[in-house]
Parts: sequence; structure tokens; C-alpha cells
Amino acid sequence: MSEEPLLQVVKVTKNFVKGGLFSPRKAVRAVDNVSLEIGMVENVALVGESGCGKSTLGKLTLGLLKPDSGKILFEGKDIWSMKKDEFAKFRRNAQIIHQDPYTSLNPVRTIFQSLAPPLIRNKEVPNGKAAYERLKEVLTMVGLTPPEDFLNRYPARMSGGQMQRIILARAVSLRPKFIVADEAVSMLDASLRLGAVDLMLELQKKFGMSYLFITHDLGIARYFILKGRGKIAMMYLGSIVEAGEGDSVIQKPIHPYTQVMMTAISVPDPKLTRSRPIPSLRSLEVPRLEQVPSGCKFHPRCPYAEKVCEEKVPELRAFDSRLVACHFAERFVH
Ligand code: SF4
Repeated sequence: MSEEPLLQVVKVTKNFVKGGLFSPRKAVRAVDNVSLEIGMVENVALVGESGCGKSTLGKLTLGLLKPDSGKILFEGKDIWSMKKDEFAKFRRNAQIIHQDPYTSLNPVRTIFQSLAPPLIRNKEVPNGKAAYERLKEVLTMVGLTPPEDFLNRYPARMSGGQMQRIILARAVSLRPKFIVADEAVSMLDASLRLGAVDLMLELQKKFGMSYLFITHDLGIARYFILKGRGKIAMMYLGSIVEAGEGDSVIQKPIHPYTQVMMTAISVPDPKLTRSRPIPSLRSLEVPRLEQVPSGCKFHPRCPYAEKVCEEKVPELRAFDSRLVACHFAERFVH
């Protein structure tokens, strides 16, 4: 019998109303009928350009937003049908690491004053003294030593890299089963990014949580997935266009959007040599969610678009051991 996924996103749609005082109000569909599964101790990299709905999907998986339709199941249970105490337990089990660590913490509190209350509130520890001991342990794990020194500091006295470690420590101190890392390393200097990903994966080995790793940077997604193993889901204008085992998607992308994104990253590994030249985009302009193109949303930019692509929405179908939303997926199998 196959193991039940930790988290299931089932045909989820989320709309927002944009505009207001100076522009007409318009409904936009940030997440469009998306399904996704994340297993126990599994990694999924969710990749797409800015504004494609990735962060909205991340917030939906955490219960920070409610879907307009569809379901989010955590350990088989619909999170929006949970009782108050079950939902609170789910929220403790599902943590987030934001892009900007400085906005995640109160600037007038020390690191201890920010990190201790969630531990006590969630009954992870009985009191402040035990919280101090737990946090010393976790800060040491993320390489912030001596931990006492960092616990007594204010955020302004920390570097970006140190703050990102603090946010990671805050997330793992609650021993969650699931972490959404939303552009978690994007603000770090390039030299620190790989180290931060390594640390995340090291902590995964210790604590056994699953990651939804959200990024616009396919290069860092590739590093994360090839090092930590897992799946990649490519998102375009609110829809998943390709999803599958990370190394297979990276080495042999099928969907034209994934193919084009792959051209944007260097290929230092000879095993990843492309077997065919990949044409460039017809347009560099990313359509806005307010004006989603008809048919295949990618057709105005797709180098392979045909008439049918303007008219008919391609369904996400199982293909060559992954899911692909393209009318002509068969043509792009290597
Ligand atoms: S359905 Fe057509 S436009 Fe869309 S990705 Fe496939 S070939 Fe390109």
C-alpha cells in the first residue's frame, strides 16, 4: 500500500480582486485549478517567474489563505474542515521561511524575545528557561555560535546571512513536518545561497520535514533538487505546466516553458547536455494575471505555438512519468 502524502493540493483555485481607487476593479486568478502532492520528508521545488502565483500557492498550503475552490489536505485531512485545536496543530506543523528575514521579526525585540513565545504558546517547552535551552541548541545547529550572544541581539545587529539562519532556526525549533521556503535564499549574496540550501537540507536530515521550495531561480532550484532529491513543479500564470522527478525534468524538459527556462541557466554538468537546440521566446513580455491569454496561457511567447494553442486549454496529463500541459508534448520527448 502506498504511503499517504503529507500534503495534497487538490484542484485549488484562488482569485483576487485587483484595482480600486484609480483603476477599474478586476478579478484575477492567481492559482488556477492546481493539484500537487508532497510526501513525507520530500522536497518539491515550485519554480516560475515573479507574479505567477507561487507565493499564493505557498500561503494556501499553509492555511494562510482559503481556496475559493478545491481542497488542501494535510495528513489526509481537509485543513478547512479541521476543528480549532486541529488547525492550531497543523499550523505548528507547517512553517514558513520568508524572503526578507528582517521583516519577519520585530526589530525592537531580541532574538530570544521573538523566538521563545511560539515555543511556549505551542507547549513545546514549559517555560522561558526551557525555551532558552531549546533555542541555544537550535542556534548551534544552524551555526550561530556562541548561541547566547545571538539570542541577546536585536535584528539590526545581524547580517542578512545570520538573520536567514535565525528564521530557519525559528521554523525548525517547533519541529514542523512541513516548511514552505518562499524565495528563502533570494536576498542572500550569491556566495551564501548554496550554503543556506545545504543547511536546509542538513536540517531536513536531522528533523525529517518536507520542503516546498518556492523560487524564480531555476539554477538554485536545480541545486536544491539535485542535492536533496525531489520533484520540480513549473508554474506559469497560475497553472502548473510541468511536474515530475527533479533530475528528469532538469535533464529532459518537455514543456516548452521549462525548456526555455532551462536555457537561462548554465549547464556545467556534461550529463545535462541538451540533445536539441532550444529556440528563444517569441516575446519577452510576461502577460499579467489580469490579462491571461486564451487557450494555452503560454502561446503568445511559445516558440512552437500553433492555431490550436490559441483556442484550446491544454490539460495537464500524465506523460513519460510526469505531468505536462502541452498539446504537443509528444514532439518534445527527447
Ligand atoms: S500548447 Fe502550444 S503554446 Fe502551449 S506550450 Fe504547447 S506548443 Fe506551446
